[in-house]
Amino acid sequence: MHENLAPYASCPENSQGRIFHEEESQLRSCFQRDRDRIIHSSAFRRLDRKTQVFVDPDKDNVRTRLTHSLEVSQIARTISRELGLNEDLTEAICLAHDLGHPPFGHAGQDILNECMLPYGGFEHNLQSLRIVDLLEHRYANFLGLNLTFETREGILKHCDQKTALNLGEIGKRFINRTQPSLEAQLANIADLIAYNHHDIDDGLRAKILNINDFIQFDWAKSVIDKIEKNKDFPKLMNYEFVRILLNLAVLDLIEETKKNLIRFNIKNTKDVRTSEKTIISFSDNLKNIQDELKNFLMQNFYLNDQVKKLSDQAEKVIPKLFNFFLANPKNLPPYFYEQFLIHTKSPGQEPARIICDYIAGMTDRFALNQYNEVPNDK
Ligand code: MG
Repeated sequence: MHENLAPYASCPENSQGRIFHEEESQLRSCFQRDRDRIIHSSAFRRLDRKTQVFVDPDKDNVRTRLTHSLEVSQIARTISRELGLNEDLTEAICLAHDLGHPPFGHAGQDILNECMLPYGGFEHNLQSLRIVDLLEHRYANFLGLNLTFETREGILKHCDQKTALNLGEIGKRFINRTQPSLEAQLANIADLIAYNHHDIDDGLRAKILNINDFIQFDWAKSVIDKIEKNKDFPKLMNYEFVRILLNLAVLDLIEETKKNLIRFNIKNTKDVRTSEKTIISFSDNLKNIQDELKNFLMQNFYLNDQVKKLSDQAEKVIPKLFNFFLANPKNLPPYFYEQFLIHTKSPGQEPARIICDYIAGMTDRFALNQYNEVPNDK
């Protein structure tokens, strides 16, 4: 059945299963079902209206959280197949990894966290897990999507020890300092490959970045030399530049990972989990390149005025909505209001978490509309 699956890949038959028991499907493996449940979720559809980096909704060609998630998945699936890993699990984790992202990109995450600091903080990674475990309501018998342990583990990329103690089985690896599956490790790095490269692409298209800005880096200079023949067609040069860099990263990751599998003598999934180091990794050279790219984008793109418009919106909209709903919970939709009341009466439960769930689930557009409806004196 799994003739192309490597012995260190996650196998559906060996899954640690779902929280609520369900009969297996005759047509799809448990990881295929996870992927399909994610695609059919409301939170997944809303990613289409959540900003990645650019706030301008009139720009039809820029990335959204949805297209970002699809690109992460595409990159990871290519690598997963080449390494003999489970492509379905890889895809499920990638498609779900940003479900918990609030409106207005990274700025939205920071501002919502600030609002939530007195009540336990906000972290989009944990929120993605909260969505698939609790907030999606599509089944009569349980809350959430009841995904497998392996998909949930992959969604939870990082976690502090205190939080991990309350997360049961999937928190254990942060306490015991063990590794997640190779598919989870891969989804994590594919996220970085995707955003580093598509942000260059968005930056070049918006003319915030220019290819010549990269000449300062030796690794970029050799790529630019290669594509000089297209210099009369700047748009093509941009595409070629990003395409070649992306390809270099993917090939390097595959080669280095193959070396690691031998170097660390990885024979099965137990070896993966007990390994001291993560197995899916770049070579030192490529890691430096990715770090340089990240720093370059921070200085020249994310802090650019056009991109920072996003922070302004997040700073304006999110605290106002948060404070309004906290003071006027009756204005929440019925389900959230009901949950707010339950949390108010339950010791150890934080009612503000429900306001946070509601705001984190909003699209940029919905948040702005809600903001415009909040009376000014409240
Ligand atoms: Mg991401």
